[in-house]
Amino acid sequence: VLSVKVSVYIGLGSNLDDPLAQIQTAVATLNQTEELKVLACSSLYGSKPQGPQDQPDFANAVCLVETTLSPLNLLACLQAIEQQQGRVKKRHWGERLIDLDILLYGAQVISTEVLTVPHAEIANRDFVLIPLVEIAPDLVIPNFGSIGSLISKLDVSYLKPLAESHAV
Ligand code: ATP
Ligand code: MG
Ligand code: MG
Repeated sequence: VLSVKVSVYIGLGSNLDDPLAQIQTAVATLNQTEELKVLACSSLYGSKPQGPQDQPDFANAVCLVETTLSPLNLLACLQAIEQQQGRVKKRHWGERLIDLDILLYGAQVISTEVLTVPHAEIANRDFVLIPLVEIAPDLVIPNFGSIGSLISKLDVSYLKPLAESHAV
């Protein structure tokens, strides 16, 4: 069977129980998964929560992975890693041990009940675009345009590099 490798960008976030370690653990788990290979990772950033404000700040990063998994199988794989790492659903946009979102799956546009790609909020999130541009400076996002133009339209907001840290 021919298995085609697709380049996928994954957004990682955590704001519970040592967020930096949670992100590093998730990257290591991704890389240990047979059908996935981590090709690049951004540095780590701190961000303010975007939902309820009575929760800790987040750590965020973005990884480039190469995978043979279909979009839905990749989603299932990411959800399994979230569960395995102990994520418990508390409230919408609430605190979590680890969040793994598919930002881009090759150049595909996907719009189903369970999966929207490019990620629906990609254009509105500094904690996605700033790490993403580090590892994909020339990226063009289907339906949204170049990453540079998206970043230039971002509202000023709180995002700080976390000291000398790197997800891998
Ligand atoms: P947001 O998607 O705004 O970042 P969230 O990450 O907190 O919110 P989750 O609770 O992690 O949301 O996931 C809710 C649902 O989002 C998942 O069950 C999944 O079916 C759906 N979903 C849709 N598109 C994506 C995507 N591109 N990546 C991950 N999950 C997605
Ligand atoms: Mg998310
Ligand atoms: Mg999610």
